Amino acid sequence: MRLNPGYKITKMTYNGENVPFRTVDDDINGKRSTYFKLPEDLYHKTLVIEYSGFPTQGRYWADSMVQDTIDHDFISLSTSAVVPILDNYYSTHDSAVIDITLPDNLTPFLNYTQMTDFTDNGNGTKTWSAACSEFVSDFTAGYYCIDNFSIGELNIDFAYGTAYQEIVEENDIQQTIIEILTYCSQHYGELWAAENNHLLLRQESSMFGGGYALHGVSTWFEMVLAPDTLSDTDKGASATEVFIHEMIHQWWGGLGLDCAQEDLWSSEGLTVYSTYRLVKEKYGALYAQQYYVDAWKNAVDSQNRSFYNRHPEYLELLPELYHTQINSSNTSINWYQRMPLMILKSEELVGGKEKMDEILRQMYTDQDLFRENGFGYTDFCIIAD
Ligand SMILES: [Zn+2]
Repeated sequence: MRLNPGYKITKMTYNGENVPFRTVDDDINGKRSTYFKLPEDLYHKTLVIEYSGFPTQGRYWADSMVQDTIDHDFISLSTSAVVPILDNYYSTHDSAVIDITLPDNLTPFLNYTQMTDFTDNGNGTKTWSAACSEFVSDFTAGYYCIDNFSIGELNIDFAYGTAYQEIVEENDIQQTIIEILTYCSQHYGELWAAENNHLLLRQESSMFGGGYALHGVSTWFEMVLAPDTLSDTDKGASATEVFIHEMIHQWWGGLGLDCAQEDLWSSEGLTVYSTYRLVKEKYGALYAQQYYVDAWKNAVDSQNRSFYNRHPEYLELLPELYHTQINSSNTSINWYQRMPLMILKSEELVGGKEKMDEILRQMYTDQDLFRENGFGYTDFCIIAD
């Protein structure tokens, strides 16, 4: 079996009898092996494994400190940092029961489901209990607020840090989520992550550089709701619009259609264009023209007029630092402004926004074809031709 190397196994018994075991120093990705042998007769017997300690992080996660951490206000544990993973062991029924004691202000999720049954111990802690499969894929606990709401049949749990309560209210994030999910599902296809009738949207640690999606779960790192992100005007004219941008990435980006990162192509341009379309529907054509199309044109115009872009031979002569700054500013304008303008132009060329939506829907439907190399500019030209 494999267990997080931070834990020490103190005792193993099988049907009350001691079982000799051997732990080997072979740590891979936060797991360490222990070997033992059980008698042939495996039915209706109980194996007890006692262990304790503090989980350590696998080398893979060590830089970002996102997984297998226990802080006083946030806990994030992966499989083997909760229970041992037993090789050669199969079970077909959900038979496990978990009891976990935590400070009483933390809200726990077991396998992406909010735990609901608890006993208040009256000493600042609560003991949470749940029946689950014996395989724990994730245990997370934090200072969470959870809003429940639904869109038609789909029930949504939106979990965000208590520190973000005001931001969520002020920017009407809940209503925005409803509008985005409705718009994108209708235009591009159902959110892959919401195939069942339940969707958990959960804010994660700021250490996660993005988010991830699983069946019924979409997560964003903490910064998606942070004031700095919500005031980034490249992504939209208001905080609500930037949030729209971040949520549309569920369709355009690694969680949906994975895009190649080229000079003039990335998931950013598609996301900005989709944000514009949604905003146009929500706030009207004038608004969308002023804060999106005109703003893109201005940025592209000044990029075109910039001295170093007109005279690249001088760019070569600049010290590397300035060279890099100009190049990265060009990339950002290419992705956030020039590419959406280009897609808008394609919208005209293919015969209007309905036709463009058909193309976008096709791209999203075909997402599995682009898992390896990413969907690039050439792919777009082929599909839009
Ligand atoms: Zn983006």
